[in-house]
Amino acid sequence: MMKDNYAISRGRMVSTQIINRGISDERVLEAMRKVPRHRFVEEAILHQAYNDHPLPIGEKQTISQPFIVAFMTQSLELTGEEKVLEIGTGSGYQAAILAELAYSVYSIERKSVLAKMAKDVLQSLNYYNVYIKIGDGTHGWRSEAPFDCIIVTAASPDVPLALKEQLKDGGRLVIPVGDQCNQKLMKITKKGRNYKVEELLMCRFVPLIGKYGFQDER
Ligand code: SAH
Repeated sequence: MMKDNYAISRGRMVSTQIINRGISDERVLEAMRKVPRHRFVEEAILHQAYNDHPLPIGEKQTISQPFIVAFMTQSLELTGEEKVLEIGTGSGYQAAILAELAYSVYSIERKSVLAKMAKDVLQSLNYYNVYIKIGDGTHGWRSEAPFDCIIVTAASPDVPLALKEQLKDGGRLVIPVGDQCNQKLMKITKKGRNYKVEELLMCRFVPLIGKYGFQDER
């Protein structure tokens, strides 16, 4: 496919999969129209890059369905000023969307192969406000905390305490919580010493593996 055809595919993806399902934040829609999702998938499945489902990215991991990326991003209510933490860099696609909409993005990935690939593609696309490190994200990123927003893109049995603690007052955390088959996407907003908890939708992510996540990969 030629360059322009990808832009057409992206426009179609945004109108049919994202606007039609109720996403209305114009900044989010613009970022989804702009970021070249096909650059984050392997050559062999390029033609599927804008389809309405997740795709394999190697290492038994997946890049999320476009709608889920848009939905989670919208729920963070980004204005452009925020320092954001992402757990589960994967392909780097979600990080690129965040980089368009926030001030800076810190992203942690436990698989070094994926972290390296994500770093390379983000650099080639000139995203200089994304910082990636290899490690167990269930501890958060203490030296960079606190964060305005935290997004976890892997399924967790519970909400890791460190992540709640690393939110600024008024900060938002979105995280899929459940078992390894089905999860509820939760939004947690820090309000002083309290946390407001909302359930957003049912979802299905690959597991968050770590000290305060699942212990093993099925
Ligand atoms: N946001 C990604 C999709 C991520 S898939 C994208 O846009 O492509 C979930 C990712 O979380 C996988 O790459 C997996 O290796 C990673 N992961 C799982 N447990 C983790 C942990 N404890 N810390 C950091 N990354 C983790």
